[in-house]
Amino acid sequence: MPDRFKAILITRDEDKKQSAAVTEIGNADLMDGDVTVAVEATTVNYKDGLAITGKAPIARRFPLVPGIDFAGTVISSSHADWKAGDKVVLNGWGTGETHHGAYAERSRVNGDWLVPLPDGLTPQQAMAVGTAGYTAMLSVLALEKHGLTPGSGPIVVTGAVGGVGSVAIAILAKLGYRVIASTGRVDEEGYLKDLGATEIIDRNELSGPGKPLGKERWAGGVDAVGSHTLANVLAMTSYGGAVTACGLAQGMDLPASVAPFILRGVTLIGIDSVMAPKAKRMEAWRRIATDLDIEKLEAMSSTIGFDGIFDAAELIVEGKIRGRVVVDMT
Ligand code: NDP
Repeated sequence: MPDRFKAILITRDEDKKQSAAVTEIGNADLMDGDVTVAVEATTVNYKDGLAITGKAPIARRFPLVPGIDFAGTVISSSHADWKAGDKVVLNGWGTGETHHGAYAERSRVNGDWLVPLPDGLTPQQAMAVGTAGYTAMLSVLALEKHGLTPGSGPIVVTGAVGGVGSVAIAILAKLGYRVIASTGRVDEEGYLKDLGATEIIDRNELSGPGKPLGKERWAGGVDAVGSHTLANVLAMTSYGGAVTACGLAQGMDLPASVAPFILRGVTLIGIDSVMAPKAKRMEAWRRIATDLDIEKLEAMSSTIGFDGIFDAAELIVEGKIRGRVVVDMT
């Protein structure tokens, strides 16, 4: 196995100006960890787009290999749970932020961060799910924990054509929910209906300043957008419903009132994938393997090579990626 291998590295100059470039690194450049993994597939998440373009301070040490998730095969391990040849998945835990991440042919990480590649999924399929899809499943699990069932009423999914949105729609539809998809790309109606959405609404209906309470339109929501959109989703959630918040594609603000909480008993549930405990991750990946149709996953995914990462990073921060992007590293 060659000692030097390809990687993207984010660096910062004396004026703290950040840039990213393809380079070569060696085993000695990898960070501390007890498991070394051959990265076979990764993906471009919204956060990766922000890191590579420098549009938000995602990279917090320099130089840094970006990439917040990967799937691959263990090359060597001194961790009790893993041995050479094991197939693994990693999401978050600071990889691609404070620890060298996925955009290198090899990664050395803490074995506690890894979960087994679910049976029946290839590394490429696991990264078609990626952190966006795993977060969608965490959101669905949270709605279920709240007590919502398909009989409770429809679920609205915002940022529907994006990664979190596409996977959430496919999972919810398979579980039997009626799904209302909110999108700025209404011309993608066919795509969203094929994933299982029953109704499409223009995101303009939700993205401006709204009333503290609106007509009760859905029992719950999976929101990846934040800002006015989340405020309006809350205001239109029916009595006793719940909405998950994982993203900030529109903004980090939440210009809402307490009315949905104190007059309708609505619950707002925060979703964090990065530091989620291992048991929750295992549950999410177990449910992904059973509750996400592989054909729908394939239909929402496109595959690029290592050299395509920069273009995909630009496109995802512009909101121009449909569904999920897999980076095949093999
Ligand atoms: P994508 O870029 O794939 O999807 C985001 C979608 O949001 C877009 O496709 C678009 O959907 C919609 N959108 C974009 N800009 C705006 C806007 N100005 N106003 C309203 N809607 C907008 O990203 P991901 O799905 O990968 O991630 C979505 C969000 O979730 C991101 O903010 C990301 O950081 C966050 N996230 C958080 C995680 C966590 O652990 N909490 C984990 C994973 C993701 P459409 O075209 O349909 O309108």
